[in-house]
Amino acid sequence: MNYISTRADSVRVTASQAITKGISAEGGLFVPELLPELTLSDIEALSKMDYIGRAKSILSLFLTDFTDEEIEKCVKGAYGTGSFSDPAVAPVVCLEDGLNILELWKGPTCAFKDMALQILPRLMTVSAGKTAKGTEIVILVATSGDTGKAALEGFRDVENTRILVFYPNDGVSPMQKLQMCTQEGKNVSVCAIEGNFDDAQNGVKKIFTDKSVGEKLAENSMAFSSANSINWGRLVPQVVYYISAYCDMLNKGKIKSGDKVNFVVPTGNFGNILAAFYAKEMGIPVNKLICASNKNSVLTDFLTTGTYDRNREFYTTISPSMDILISSNLERLLYTAADGNRVNEWMKQLSETGKYTVDDETFAYIKSSFAAGCCDDDETKAAIGKLFKEQNYLCDTHTAVGVKVYYDYREKTGDNTPTVIASTANPFKFSKAVLEAVEGSVQGLDEFSMVERLAEVTGKECPAPLANLRNKTVRFTNCCEKNSDSMKKVIFDMLNI
Ligand SMILES: *Cc1c(COP(=O)(O)O)cnc(C)c1O
Repeated sequence: MNYISTRADSVRVTASQAITKGISAEGGLFVPELLPELTLSDIEALSKMDYIGRAKSILSLFLTDFTDEEIEKCVKGAYGTGSFSDPAVAPVVCLEDGLNILELWKGPTCAFKDMALQILPRLMTVSAGKTAKGTEIVILVATSGDTGKAALEGFRDVENTRILVFYPNDGVSPMQKLQMCTQEGKNVSVCAIEGNFDDAQNGVKKIFTDKSVGEKLAENSMAFSSANSINWGRLVPQVVYYISAYCDMLNKGKIKSGDKVNFVVPTGNFGNILAAFYAKEMGIPVNKLICASNKNSVLTDFLTTGTYDRNREFYTTISPSMDILISSNLERLLYTAADGNRVNEWMKQLSETGKYTVDDETFAYIKSSFAAGCCDDDETKAAIGKLFKEQNYLCDTHTAVGVKVYYDYREKTGDNTPTVIASTANPFKFSKAVLEAVEGSVQGLDEFSMVERLAEVTGKECPAPLANLRNKTVRFTNCCEKNSDSMKKVIFDMLNI
């Protein structure tokens, strides 16, 4: 199977080239030329397998230039070595009131990013072995929190790779900061930036495309790659868990073969929900994909009006991993919906004016698959409180946005299709807001006291990787200015070049 660029029909690369490059040279994103199809009997066969078996079968449909042995090694290394605390890897928990929760946070950093970032480094080393032998891969990440930690954990001590993460000094939660600054591993570095997430992101982008930096790396047999969700190697492992969730719903007797389900996905960069869309296009019976946003409701507005407009106020919310105004992966949906021919024009309008409107036909196509809704912080907290009180289930702030949007959707539409809600983080990762939701006030408590208090009040256990942070040594304390020259210096120092 070949991959083509959303912005240039003539570009054709293999899976391993798409994964090593990360992004196409002219700025487009790689998409599969044709999606593989699953019949109902394929799906029934998958439902008899465990998660590792399902992942192997599905990845082999997409990564056609990998051998079966290579895929098996990547999948087992990621999901079969105990780094996930549940052998089911991504279990579906069935609650009352039609809620089925797909728990995607059993990995080492307790957020759904682990599902992809535990396997991406393995896919990348195999890919680089095929396309760029002898080159050391340097991963640069700008993060607002969860991606940085998950990438560090995924790439730590992976041969022939280095990873350097920049985060905004005042833009991540205390827990997220501690997670990154105590990171272990020989090939990792972390640096704060005096600025916000956009500054970090802009600096990294500039360095990525700086010719002289690229040349200097090449002289030292190194090359940059990207671990953020524009990399195809992050999307394909996410398709697996939607297919797996459908299989689990079958096995639990919640649906019969061929019955449709809804997926609700708390969304920021549109990566996670795009994976659900690909699962649907491959043949998983889906009624609606429900896109849930926080107060930064740019996607809700797009999916209800057909106009994408980022010219608006940016809100900092209690679901920070969804505080995004430019959802990069939407470009891939537009490519499928509009048959590729108008994506360039819309992306140009987006970068020049901050907005674009899709044509009626494209919008109708998108509407046939997607519904959308949003909620604010108070509603998010109310959803956490309600779910805990009524069903003794504790969810995090991002998942709660999904729960609230689903309740609203069901009330408005009367749609009673069995529904799976993607749960994207463990509640202890966002203890402050979750504690406020179940108890009211948290005044005067530091981060670990809040964790303890949350455990006490709810009777739930804080996952070990978060609880253990308390005893870890802080390894990284450096902070640089937000200009790309300071960042370059940090990078060269780390790489010793
Ligand atoms: C990254 C993240 C999201 C948003 O996922 P996208 O793929 O960017 O839409 C939601 N919840 C949590 C906890 C995250 O870390």
